[in-house]
Amino acid sequence: ESVIVAIDGPSGTGKSSTSKAVAAKLGLSYLDTGAQYRAITWWMINNGIDTDDPAAIATASAKPVIVSGTDPAGPTITVDGVDVAGPIRTQEVTSKVSAVSAVAEVRAVITELQRSIALTARQGIVVEGRDIGTTVLPDADLKIFLTASPEARAARRSGELKGKESADLASTKAALIKRDEADSSRRTSPLAKADDAVEVDTTDLTLDQVVECVVTLVEE
Ligand code: C5P
Repeated sequence: ESVIVAIDGPSGTGKSSTSKAVAAKLGLSYLDTGAQYRAITWWMINNGIDTDDPAAIATASAKPVIVSGTDPAGPTITVDGVDVAGPIRTQEVTSKVSAVSAVAEVRAVITELQRSIALTARQGIVVEGRDIGTTVLPDADLKIFLTASPEARAARRSGELKGKESADLASTKAALIKRDEADSSRRTSPLAKADDAVEVDTTDLTLDQVVECVVTLVEE
């Protein structure tokens, strides 16, 4: 039978690496919901929508066609047929994604997309995000909430940034904390741990240890 695993938490806790590895090990699909919010943000920027104008974002929210490929070995994301896997990771998109994601109409469109992907995944799926266990898939078979100290999260995040976009640790940490605060304080589906989620503090764990822990919980 098909199993649905929800993995939520703030940025830099190892959500993506963990979710992909768990999905690959268990033969499940994988969905990066942050990539979808980044994709809609990229589309807004590219279409001249003022990302500080919630009404303009709301009006445009249903226009972009976002398609997510759910193979954990090579997840993909396109908007109106354009591969945006690279462009959605820029500093510009990262700095604007929280504001766009806070708009209720955006969340309604993306949440519906996420549910249809999750409910049609044959073997099941690992879905990572901020509100999967609380809002998108409240009936998930297993809910995980990943945490880590701000220092550990900033160190992981700045290790991921390359070349001209690599920032120093202090500014990476500041930007990350600001984004988490925005994601946690928005009115619609904020970043939150579901009551029935298992919290895993990854600060002192290796990726393999976290993956092992989650796989064990799925198999129980
Ligand atoms: O996971 P990632 O850092 O790529 O997510 C980018 C942004 O997308 C988050 O900071 C948050 O604003 C938004 N997001 C969300 N709900 C989700 C996943 C991501 O609001 N389920």
